[in-house]
Amino acid sequence: MTDRQGYHVDYDDAGSVTVTEGAARAPGAPVEDGMGCHAGAETMEAAARAAGKSDILDQYAADYPQGPHDKPQSMCPAFGSLRVGLRMRRTATVLSGSACCVYGLTFVSHFYGARRSVGYVPVDSETLVTGKLFEDIRESVHDLADPDRYDAIVVTNLCVPTASGVPLRLLPDEINGVRIIGIDVPGFGIPTHAEAKDVLAGAMLNYARKEIEAGPVQAPASGKTDRPTVALLGEMFPADPMMIGQMLDPLGLAAGPVVPAREWRELYAALASSAVAAIHPFYTASMREFSAAGRSIVGSAPVGVEGTHNWLAQIGDSFGLSADKITGAQNTFTLATKAALAANPIKGTVTLSGYEGSELLVARLLIESGAHVPYVGTACPKTEASAWDRDWLDAHGCKVVYRSSLEDDLAVVEGLRPDLAIGTTPVVQKAKELGVPSLYYTNLISARPLMGPAGAGSLAEVINAAMANGDRMGKMKAFFEGVGREDTAGVWEGDPNLRPDFRAAHQKKLDKQARAAKAAEMI
Ligand code: SF4
Repeated sequence: MTDRQGYHVDYDDAGSVTVTEGAARAPGAPVEDGMGCHAGAETMEAAARAAGKSDILDQYAADYPQGPHDKPQSMCPAFGSLRVGLRMRRTATVLSGSACCVYGLTFVSHFYGARRSVGYVPVDSETLVTGKLFEDIRESVHDLADPDRYDAIVVTNLCVPTASGVPLRLLPDEINGVRIIGIDVPGFGIPTHAEAKDVLAGAMLNYARKEIEAGPVQAPASGKTDRPTVALLGEMFPADPMMIGQMLDPLGLAAGPVVPAREWRELYAALASSAVAAIHPFYTASMREFSAAGRSIVGSAPVGVEGTHNWLAQIGDSFGLSADKITGAQNTFTLATKAALAANPIKGTVTLSGYEGSELLVARLLIESGAHVPYVGTACPKTEASAWDRDWLDAHGCKVVYRSSLEDDLAVVEGLRPDLAIGTTPVVQKAKELGVPSLYYTNLISARPLMGPAGAGSLAEVINAAMANGDRMGKMKAFFEGVGREDTAGVWEGDPNLRPDFRAAHQKKLDKQARAAKAAEMI
C-alpha cells in the first residue's frame, strides 16, 4: 500500500490482535462471500451479530427505533456520516466497503460539492476472510495520520465490513496526535442518512468529552464569549444560527457552535455550552453526550410566532431567567415574526414529506403562514425532542407520520391532490405525473432560513411561485398525455412488445418461492 522504507507495523496493540481465519479455498474454486449487498438485511444483521457487533447494533436499535415502517426508502445511510466528515476542516474520511457502495457514496458526495478526496480501503472476499482488511485499514490510517494536515481521521465500516465484524474499535485512538474515529454505519442498522450524521457527531462528541475530562483543550478559533451559550444541534441554513443569536441576545445569552461541527475544536465549545437546542430532534447519540456533560436539552425551534414564543420560554426557563426578561424577548421577536408572516401569506393546501429532520418545523411555519397542511411525513423517528411540534401540528389538524414510507407520501399526494406537494424526488415525480405543482424538499426548502422573523417570510416566495404553476403543470400533463408509462413509456415505432405470459410465469415463480419460505419458517 505504501513504498515507505523501514515501515514499522508495531504502532499499537492492534498489531497483536488475533484475527479469525477462514478455511482455505480449493484451488480454482469460485470466491463466494455470501454476504454482499444482495444478502438481505436480516442475513447481514445476523452475520454482524455473530461477528461480535451485537452491542453496537443494539445501541443503534435503541437510538434509532424503527417502525411503524421498518425502512424508509432513503439513500444509503452512510452518506449522512460521510457528508458530516467531509464538511469538517482538517478531517480525513476513509470508507471501507464494497466498491459499488463506495462508488455511489463518492459520486453523491461530489455531486453535493465535497471538494475533498474520500479515502477507500478496498475490500474483497480474501481480505475479509483472512482479516487482512483490518490490517489494510490500520495501515491506511497510519499513512494518513499527518498532524500538519489533519485533526482527525474518520474510518467508516459500510455494510459488508460491519457484517464481517471488522473491529474498528481496535484502531488506536490517536496516531501522531491525529484522532482516529472508527464507526460502523451499516444500512441494516441505521435507518436513514439523517441518523448516520448523528452516529458520527455522537462519536466525535464522545471523543471530545473524554479529552475535556483528561485536561485543558484548545479554545474556540473565534475566541470565548463571556455569555452563557446555547449549542445548536442539526445542520441548518447558515443564516439561522445568526438569527438565533439575535434572539438570545436580550436574554443575555449567545448562540454556541452548530453540531455537526465544522472544526474539531468547535466540539469543545459545544460541550462547554450551558444548554443545547435540539433543532433537529433525532440526534439521540449526540444528546446522550451532551447529557453526560451535564447540559440541558431544549426541543423544537424558534420557528413561527408560537414556536418562537415557546422556544424562548423554554430556553429562559432552562437558564432560570426572570419572567420579565423572557417576556421582553418574546414580545420583540414574536411581533416581528407575526409581521413577516402577515406580509408573506401562503394560501392553498400543501403536503410535505422529507428525510432531513426539519419537516415538522417547516409544516408549522407553513400553517402559520396561512397554508392548509393536512399531512407531514418524515423518515426520522418519533422522539421526545419533537413532542412540542408534534402536539402543535396535531392540534392544527395536521397528521404527522414518523418513519413515513414512500407509499404513505405518494398515497397522500394522489388522494388529496394538493395545490403543492413538497417531498423527495419520487414524490415530486409522482406529483408531476398528476399535474400537481411540486418542490424538492432538500434543495428548495432546506436551503432557506426558517428561524424567527428572518425565516417567517422566506418560504412564501418559493411556495407561492410553485403553486402559481398549477396551470402550466396541467398543460404539460396534457402535452405528454399518451406517451406511455411504466413499461410502455417512450416513443415506439410499433406496439410495445409486451409479454404478459412471461410476467405471469415469473409471478408464479415468486409466489412459489414465498410459499416455500413460509413453509420453511414453520419447520
Ligand atoms: S453500504 Fe450498505 S446501505 Fe450503503 S449502498 Fe452499500 S449495501 Fe447499500
